[in-house]
Amino acid sequence: MKGYKDCVLRIDLTSGSIGREKLNEEYVKRYLGGEGYGVALLWDEVPHDAEPLSEKNILSFNTGPLTGTPMASASRTSINFLSPLSNTIGSSNMGSHFGAELKFAGYDSVIFEGKADKPVIVVIDDDKVEIREASHLWGKNTRETTEMLYEELGKEFKISCIGQGGEMLSSLACIFSDDCFAGRGGAGAVMGSKNLKAVAVRGTGKIEIEDKDRFLEINAVAIKEIRDEVYTWGPVHGYGTPAWLDGANECGMLPTRNFRQNYFEKLEPIMPYNLWNNREKFDVRRRACYSCQLGCHKYVVMKNTGSGEDVGIGELEYETIAALGPRCGVNSYEDIAMANYYLTIYGLDTISGGATISAAMELFEEGIITKEDLDGLELNFGNGKAMVELIRKMGLREGCGDLFADGSQVAAEKIGGRALDYTMTVKGMEISATDPRGSSAMTVSFGTSERGACHMRPYAATIDAFGYLYPDLGVEEPRDPFDDSESKEWLKSVKEFFVVTNLIGICDFNVINCELHATTLAALYTALTGIDTDKEELLRKAERTIALERALNYERGFRREDDKLPNRFMTEGAFAGPPKGRKVDMESALDRYYEACSYDKEKAIPTREKFQELGMEDIYNGLLAQK
Ligand code: SF4
Repeated sequence: MKGYKDCVLRIDLTSGSIGREKLNEEYVKRYLGGEGYGVALLWDEVPHDAEPLSEKNILSFNTGPLTGTPMASASRTSINFLSPLSNTIGSSNMGSHFGAELKFAGYDSVIFEGKADKPVIVVIDDDKVEIREASHLWGKNTRETTEMLYEELGKEFKISCIGQGGEMLSSLACIFSDDCFAGRGGAGAVMGSKNLKAVAVRGTGKIEIEDKDRFLEINAVAIKEIRDEVYTWGPVHGYGTPAWLDGANECGMLPTRNFRQNYFEKLEPIMPYNLWNNREKFDVRRRACYSCQLGCHKYVVMKNTGSGEDVGIGELEYETIAALGPRCGVNSYEDIAMANYYLTIYGLDTISGGATISAAMELFEEGIITKEDLDGLELNFGNGKAMVELIRKMGLREGCGDLFADGSQVAAEKIGGRALDYTMTVKGMEISATDPRGSSAMTVSFGTSERGACHMRPYAATIDAFGYLYPDLGVEEPRDPFDDSESKEWLKSVKEFFVVTNLIGICDFNVINCELHATTLAALYTALTGIDTDKEELLRKAERTIALERALNYERGFRREDDKLPNRFMTEGAFAGPPKGRKVDMESALDRYYEACSYDKEKAIPTREKFQELGMEDIYNGLLAQK
């Protein structure tokens, strides 16, 4: 099978054994690769009731068949685990150059099992794979760790590592790779629980392509599709994802002050052109993941800081600015930048990090927590300096930072009383930067995402709120963003296509504005592997992956009531903009979506007939409740 390397590395950190095995053909046949491969490993190898931070959990890095090829944005690695944040399946997707290098070294996936008895790193240098003692790196932040490994191993190694957040088992901890992140769900905490500080990889091999001429021909079509989308190839290519801020605001979908509002009246100072125009204060450098055309990354350096030193802030993207800015009522770019800096170096997810601060701000304003609980911080909405200080404390679990280091829901459960009313989470994961009152599709995306509230499963506000069409996926007419009782058939296909990107190894930002066609991707897969496929088959593999994730969540106790948004969206009308006054009708939205997917409406998993149709009767029969 060209495209794949047909080799999986299995590393048992408890015993120190390193093994190689062939790619599981059944997994590839059913789920294609990437996220699908990682979830199949979880289903088959991890006890379904395992504690996420126990030795029983596994952490796998899974590339897709396209990863490392010349296809645009073929950079992606899916990292799979049981999530300490949501207790569901954990699936976090990362760009950078790490996944491509892993393929060049000869591996489709790497599985980490067990737990090392002291801090270690794993060094993969083509065929040579070693577990090395790494106590000297423990306690170092993500940037320091990366720099030290460059010095030890050479700069041609690609590094994935954790910061202090992962070492201290924060449920918000992510995995850092060259200022890209496997951000959501606590992958960094799982890595920390295994005493695995970093993975370094260097590869000198290449990826075989079955029909190279055809592949390059279709790749040119794919690139044209991406470049033909004017918003993507205009503002997003130029300014990065922060270009979306004013559109989200105008559509009444920009979470403001912990979703009390859906419109931020002070947005102008944090629009990206102001950053780019302020050359006295900021330097912005263009960067891109492996083989990316779009290059959404804009690396920010802040000059003339209080310390007199320039600070490499890192990537300031839409979700980060939205979480640390409007959601916290903050409109100081410098405060947002410093908060992002601490989240980056300590290795915490910027979305959940900012969302947790915004929930804490509302708790403070409601009098549920006080200055005394916050080491003297006056945590009102808009207090950017207090936000930065609380994030710094969270990263090190220092003082009151410990209370918030595992996210807003855990903090609210510890605080008790009415605190949970202000927690904007689904399945324990903080909702990202879209107000679902402005998009019925996002109501379903956040509510039903298998890993907890996730904006990429799918980001369908593009279609119902912004009015894009997607004829290749059957969306030929505009959809009504305010009708929760509308059929969600179309949303099923769009979600599956977003999952296909995670299976095959490309970036979602190639499909988020309906750029790349599913038909084109299927043709690329065929040219790469020689396996005849079409878009329906790609979507079916995604449907199977989602079904397997739902089955595993079901085993872990998740049901329909866990597929719901926080009450605020059902009881408080939107504050401004097109959805002004609108509340979510969650039950209708769920019913329509479950009908479209053929789910049992109470169990929230596919029906037996659906599992049979997908060729997954063994999974259905394996469900505990069916025995
Ligand atoms: S669009 Fe951005 S995140 Fe996606 S592959 Fe390109 S640079 Fe990386």
